[in-house]
Amino acid sequence: MKWIFVLLLLPLAGLAQNETCDILIINGKIIDGTGNNWYYGSIAVKNGKIIKIGRDLNLPAQKTIDARGLIVAPGFIDVHTHLEEDEARDPTAQSFIYDGVTTCITGNCGSSNTDIGKYLHWIDSLKLSINVATLIGHNDVRKAVMGRANRDASQDEMQQMKNMVDKAMKDGAVGLSTGLIYIPGTYTRTPEIVSLAKIAAKYSGVYSSHMRDEGDSVTNAIEEALTVGREARIPVEISHFKLSGQQNWGRSKETVPMIEAARKDGIEVTIDQYPYTASSTSISTLIPDEILADGQDSIKARLERPAIKKYAVEYMLGRLKKRKLKHFNYAVVANHAKDTSYNGKSIEQINLMKGRKHTARTEAETVIDLVINGGASAIFHGMSEADVKRIMKYPFNMFASDASIPVLNSGVPHPRGYGTNARVLSKYVREEKILSLEEAIRRMTSLPAQKFQLRNRGLLKEGMAADIVIFDENEVRDVSTFEKPHAYSKGFHYVIVNGALTVDNSTHNGVRAGQALFGPGYSK
Ligand SMILES: [Zn+2]
Repeated sequence: MKWIFVLLLLPLAGLAQNETCDILIINGKIIDGTGNNWYYGSIAVKNGKIIKIGRDLNLPAQKTIDARGLIVAPGFIDVHTHLEEDEARDPTAQSFIYDGVTTCITGNCGSSNTDIGKYLHWIDSLKLSINVATLIGHNDVRKAVMGRANRDASQDEMQQMKNMVDKAMKDGAVGLSTGLIYIPGTYTRTPEIVSLAKIAAKYSGVYSSHMRDEGDSVTNAIEEALTVGREARIPVEISHFKLSGQQNWGRSKETVPMIEAARKDGIEVTIDQYPYTASSTSISTLIPDEILADGQDSIKARLERPAIKKYAVEYMLGRLKKRKLKHFNYAVVANHAKDTSYNGKSIEQINLMKGRKHTARTEAETVIDLVINGGASAIFHGMSEADVKRIMKYPFNMFASDASIPVLNSGVPHPRGYGTNARVLSKYVREEKILSLEEAIRRMTSLPAQKFQLRNRGLLKEGMAADIVIFDENEVRDVSTFEKPHAYSKGFHYVIVNGALTVDNSTHNGVRAGQALFGPGYSK
């Protein structure tokens, strides 16, 4: 009967003596994602998993990668993306893959699909090159129940929203997101968010917040996010943590300690950032919230009324003055569908292109024209490098692109969609030494995996999913710039997703081995 025991023991041992593994990585400097120092070692991959890690593994392999001189790390997890509807456009997700990202968490800033089950199964059938997990977005839930109405929810509407979040969590969402600068998030008061966050908490989800304000009232906005954490007893992720507006520069000295203090108080809060001094969002965020209620027709009708237009112009001029700026040169149009010749131009430039006077007032009118003509995405140059670095040094801060999968050479999008991780590794680790390589990798891997409960990812450890990046620490760099954003990062020689070689010899080979990742509340 001895042979039966041998057969039973074989799978437990992981690998029989001469069994061939799929990929063997040798001679690399392994940084395992814990934050611990690098060490020399080999990694064997089979059937999508890391089956063995050792100093000098000598196994037969279908493919052997000699990683001499290279760093071997877990695939990066981008906790803040907006993939919605762009997945099918480029399922190879090259912008992410070339930046070392193997998993994206989408559905942020209150914006997601409302049928999470359908979405995740669609992701699985589509087959992307990256893994995808999603949050359920509050703005879309609220819109489904009560449109873009500027009021509190009735009891019945509240119940409908709760039911939607409940179903989303059971269908596999990893938590709830809000976007409180967007319509209808701006019309939502804290108790509504607490009620919905309680539902997400019931299924061990997280609460990700695009806060109500990232400028003058940022401390109130942080307080609100922490209140949701405290009252709903839910882990909080504050998205793209920043200080917007010249008048607020330096206030990370206030805001980062608020996060530390909240953690001391027992609130499970972490933050993320993109490593740039410009933000990117809709140009309509310049317009007062109340004008943006209901549909595009209502917005247009309001802005065409002289009194309301005048009010909007004065409001924008007031905000510009607060920034101590004379022109809207800090706002650059990324994509205006109606006239793409504006793409890449500042509001100040577009105003001049229209043959108007060189004044802030006519520039504000130009913003209104853009909104009336369907709106535009825009880049706002409004942060300080010192704040970016101070936030970066906070140990429970992660990195996130806040991006979708861009269409190559379309529009002039924010470079963060191409270069976030490579930029951290080159500019902030190698050149400016703001943080160590091991620490940066921990923030890109095990920290987000722990926060979003992706339990078999984020570490190089036997039994974990084989999401692995192999890069040259001296060569890695972001190439994408504000002027010429459409350029992939360099330095990633190999990227493995679920055990499948996706970048081989620095080239994406078209392999699409990503999976939908289901949250902790998922019930089949
Ligand atoms: Zn956001």
